[in-house]
Amino acid sequence: MLNIILCGAPGSGKGTQSDLIVEKYGLQHLSTGDALRAEIKSGSELGKEIGELIAGGNLVPDHKMIHLIERYLDNLPADCKGVIFDGFPRTVAQAEALELLLERRHMKAVLLDLFVEEDEVIKRLLNRGKTSGRADDNYETIKKRLVVYNEQTSPLKEWYKKEGKHCYINGLGDLDRIFADIV
Ligand code: AMP
Repeated sequence: MLNIILCGAPGSGKGTQSDLIVEKYGLQHLSTGDALRAEIKSGSELGKEIGELIAGGNLVPDHKMIHLIERYLDNLPADCKGVIFDGFPRTVAQAEALELLLERRHMKAVLLDLFVEEDEVIKRLLNRGKTSGRADDNYETIKKRLVVYNEQTSPLKEWYKKEGKHCYINGLGDLDRIFADIV
């Protein structure tokens, strides 16, 4: 199995590159952001709670995310070639939990660190906000999401480096070049 954790700031191109990876390698794509937005759309009580967190630029609590991932892993198709984790883990606690969940299933994952500077991601997200309809693609929430990313998600990189499972990707520039680097 080829299991990839795509890590990067909001607006770094994780979704776009995930689509290209899926097309080339036939992997399963788990975007936790998409899964959470689907829950919000369903109108459930949990969805309402999650909606407020996302609109405020905050993370959904670790235990809820870990539960979601566990359910996802339990329901993978038998012929699964691997998984792209797009947007998970986002905290060291999530990374530790994922490691255990994967180990129990005899799976391993590597982290691709898609790096794009902040000025550029802000530009991209403001631009996306014109059409995305997302409650979190506005200037104030983007700034908050970047603070959360720097404080809670960035430490993951060191964690994966120590595990020998970190790979840097320059996420700025031509889409095809970035994808070629990933490949
Ligand atoms: P994304 O679509 O990946 O930008 O995620 C949108 C929002 O969903 C994030 O800003 C968080 O509020 C929430 N979210 C997505 N993935 C996670 C995660 N692994 N842990 C906590 N919150 C998450």
